[in-house]
Amino acid sequence: MAEKAATSPTPTSPTQRHRVVVVGSGFGGLFGTKALSRADVDVTMIAKTTHHLFQPLLYQVATGILSEGEIAPPTREVLAKQKNATVLLGDVTGIDLDERTVTSHVLGRQLVTPYDSLIVAAGAGQSYFGNDQFAEFAPGMKSIDDALELRGRIFGAFELAELFAASGRNVDHLLTFVVVGAGPTGVEMAGQIAELAHKTLKRDFRAINTRKARVILVDAAGQVLPPFGAKLGRWTQEKLERIGVEVLLGSMVVAVDERGLEVQDKAGNRTRIEAVTKVWAAGVQASPLGRTLSEQTGAQLDRAGRIAVNPDLTLPGHPEVFVVGDMAALDNLPGVAQVAIQGARYAAKEIDGRLRGKAPHPPFKYFDKGSMATISRFGAVATVGKLRITGFLAWVMWLAVHLFYITGFKNQVTALLHWLVTFVANDRSERTATEQQIFARAALKRLDLGAQELVSEPGRTREELEAQALEEVRLTDSGARGRADA
Ligand SMILES: Cc1cc2nc3c(=O)[nH]c(=O)nc-3n(C[C@H](O)[C@H](O)[C@H](O)COP(=O)(O)OP(=O)(O)OC[C@H]3O[C@@H](n4cnc5c(N)ncnc54)[C@H](O)[C@@H]3O)c2cc1C
Repeated sequence: MAEKAATSPTPTSPTQRHRVVVVGSGFGGLFGTKALSRADVDVTMIAKTTHHLFQPLLYQVATGILSEGEIAPPTREVLAKQKNATVLLGDVTGIDLDERTVTSHVLGRQLVTPYDSLIVAAGAGQSYFGNDQFAEFAPGMKSIDDALELRGRIFGAFELAELFAASGRNVDHLLTFVVVGAGPTGVEMAGQIAELAHKTLKRDFRAINTRKARVILVDAAGQVLPPFGAKLGRWTQEKLERIGVEVLLGSMVVAVDERGLEVQDKAGNRTRIEAVTKVWAAGVQASPLGRTLSEQTGAQLDRAGRIAVNPDLTLPGHPEVFVVGDMAALDNLPGVAQVAIQGARYAAKEIDGRLRGKAPHPPFKYFDKGSMATISRFGAVATVGKLRITGFLAWVMWLAVHLFYITGFKNQVTALLHWLVTFVANDRSERTATEQQIFARAALKRLDLGAQELVSEPGRTREELEAQALEEVRLTDSGARGRADA
């Protein structure tokens, strides 16, 4: 049995100022915290990862273009100069709106943090539309773990294919890659796997021809990139097909296993595709914290688990609690970074304004700056207002916008260098893949309490590791390392 969670002392405000707790270090969490830098408050950001993740570039980590550090800088470092901000690692498991406390856990330790104002920006996870068992075989694209696991699976598939082909075995299932979901993430992922297989890797193997790898983009909808409209959708599909992606529309994934998946068309016909590597880029489900908040306030949850908020992003009956970004449902706003950023800045401004005794701001209004998706090297689509832009110009816009929003100057510089390597030289700098990337997460999931079990239930393995470590220390201290009589 694991230890009972130990509760750490409740943190007190060192200054007795107004306490703002921010849940999440994503776009809403980070931009909300930054927007409070000049306010007369103490901000505590609690997030379950130590980094701020730039999700729109996860697919580039998965396909070996960027390193994980470039898109996920430590939040602590980003906020180092903001003196009124404290960063805490913790998985928030409870929010008590009456007591005004946030409860979080790390490896069995519990922390209860009181607040005067709260900004909840815990985002969304992947949705498998009720088929969570698909996740083991078709990882989503929501976290650094997802991206590294996918990187391991993608590059690992080519390695296994090389081995098996050398002994004369069929490797079609290893050289078929299926991406589920033809939204921006799916399109970008499929385009990058195709470029990787058909261009970057074409000279690296002896027994297989990577140019023969199949990349299939599947979606139940009738077009790719539905939010971009029919014309851009058609343009994108043609472009994908030109770089070797097979686009399978009107096909719903109905089964997934280790070696492949089954799709069903509108007439009910089922087809099996043999593919070891699958990527799930369809559907999102808002953080389960939405349910906790809904139960305490009566605010409705929509089908994606997003909680209905007031026009000023607060919860009914709780003007001190703001919910922003992917967790919030208001006016059908899309789940995009700008909605989270602008919502969080609005909440911060409102908190600051109240403390200064100002009248409430008008309701939150989202300013749509446009959307974009890359398809291949030098090829992208973008919508800005009524403008529809395709090709090289859209790609340059994509490059500039993403470079601007990557957090930190050093990450901007190194990302730019990695893009030069990829887009000019058709190469990839981040191809490192290890067994742990692929299997460690699944192994941890098999432990009842995950990593917590390793820490709070040290068993024989732990003792053996400690004994080995002591022996290493003894060898070093006695100068006996490497001696035959040691
Ligand atoms: C692969 C991918 C590509 C995307 N591409 C684009 C794009 O090109 N353009 C665009 O505008 N948008 C894009 N998006 C959407 C965009 O990233 C999201 O809309 C945005 O991140 C939402 O911000 P958020 O703050 O609500 O949530 P997030 O940025 O997801 O942040 C949530 C934070 O909460 C933390 N958290 C979650 N649960 C808990 C908990 N229980 N306890 C503590 N912390 C918790 C997480 O660790 C994270 O720090 C993409 C998303 C994905 C997944």
